[in-house]
Amino acid sequence: MEGRSTVEVNIGGVVIGGNNPVAVQSMTNTDTKDAKSTLEQIAALKARGCDIVRCAVYDSDCIEPLKTIVKQAGMPVVADIHFDYRLALKSIEAGVAKVRINPGNIGDDDKIRMVADAAKANGVPIRVGANSGSINADFEKKYGRGAVAIAESALANVTALEKVGFDNIVISAKSSNVKEMLEIYRYISGKTSHPLHLGVTEAGDVLAGTVKSAVGIGALLLEGIGDTVRVSLTADPVKEIDAAYEILRAVGLYDGGVEIISCPTCARTKYDLEGTVARLREKFAGEKRSLTVAVMGCVVNGPGEASHADIGIAGGKGKVVLFEHGEKIATYPEAQAVDALYERAMRLLDNKKN
Ligand code: SF4
Repeated sequence: MEGRSTVEVNIGGVVIGGNNPVAVQSMTNTDTKDAKSTLEQIAALKARGCDIVRCAVYDSDCIEPLKTIVKQAGMPVVADIHFDYRLALKSIEAGVAKVRINPGNIGDDDKIRMVADAAKANGVPIRVGANSGSINADFEKKYGRGAVAIAESALANVTALEKVGFDNIVISAKSSNVKEMLEIYRYISGKTSHPLHLGVTEAGDVLAGTVKSAVGIGALLLEGIGDTVRVSLTADPVKEIDAAYEILRAVGLYDGGVEIISCPTCARTKYDLEGTVARLREKFAGEKRSLTVAVMGCVVNGPGEASHADIGIAGGKGKVVLFEHGEKIATYPEAQAVDALYERAMRLLDNKKN
């Protein structure tokens, strides 16, 4: 993997860019005006390991609740704003850690300068960008509709901020087409050292969205491109965090948390392996300490095949064998399998003190 070479940007204490870990973001889909529901969703995201959360600030009635959200979120909150520079100013006043707004949508230079000055005075970075739906007409004419036009549109928003003396910038330039998304980010990465926010937009439901994001975000991260990620899913945002960490793990950028490995099952499987994996995933959600847990379908091959795992179970008929590093430790009735494994795993983690 190539090293990343972007400058650092501090988002309310979470520093991205340079050699900092890739930060994981999501966006609430509750109404920002409903601070209580939004904070509940943020708490669920936090429990899953989310680093930064974005909330849509779509009119001025969002501002008072936003103040409460910022105070109680327990993580940096980003205001997502379209067009209205006054909402950006008020969000900065409300204490947000970053603003997402495009100078190209704000209008005249004075308004851009006002937002930039307020952001600068408060140490608030601005995320700018473009996507397939917001290509600058001039670039579309010059380059045709495609990756370069989108990338240049995003860079034009960067230039507009730099022109008013602002450089605390994060760039995103998403496409719903994975190949196009790769071209866009590679292009931008070659032209700027601002940190990049990666994502595939309108990616789809959990299956389609996770696959597209894994291919697009994963490929770029393997090339050393990308400083923060959002997996966009038409689903509970908590699933975005789970998917993001699995992508980071797959490309070798994350080895924390509990990795659950499991066999694909075959005719030898005589217990509910799929349900067992699902229950364990829930139980270990948000655990930051590193452990590999194996859930295997049969006692014949399971413990041996998963001997690299710290701990695991392999199923027989109505009972499971618990093993550590391939060594059989104990046998439990199937109904106790999840709890027994979980308790033993927690003890292992406590003893590891990692
Ligand atoms: S571990 Fe056992 S049940 Fe699972 S795929 Fe291998 S042989 Fe089949």
